[in-house]
Amino acid sequence: MNTSRPPDSADAVNTSPPPDPDSPTAWMAEGRCRMFPPATFFPSDGVGVEKAKKICRGCPVVDQCLEHALEHRIEHGVWGGASERQRRRILKGRRIEAQAAN
Ligand code: SF4
Repeated sequence: MNTSRPPDSADAVNTSPPPDPDSPTAWMAEGRCRMFPPATFFPSDGVGVEKAKKICRGCPVVDQCLEHALEHRIEHGVWGGASERQRRRILKGRRIEAQAAN
């Protein structure tokens, strides 16, 4: 998957090595985003967000990616097919559910 920080250049190509297959983030090697410049997933406007989300929709590790972003409270970029705003809403919904269950 992409990195947790926006890249320096919108034209940069994702040349990062694949993650260690034994690491908890080994799923990242299967991400469709590896075929796109990292900047694609750190868009500056709504059109860019929708473009990134469309790529995520066909990704085989979309669920792992979203949970990773939620678990690590990653604030920037599109992860797991969800925008920054959508992830904040998911986390808020989970907090409310957890409070209601107690
Ligand atoms: S869901 Fe999107 S951001 Fe996550 S690994 Fe797949 S393509 Fe990359």
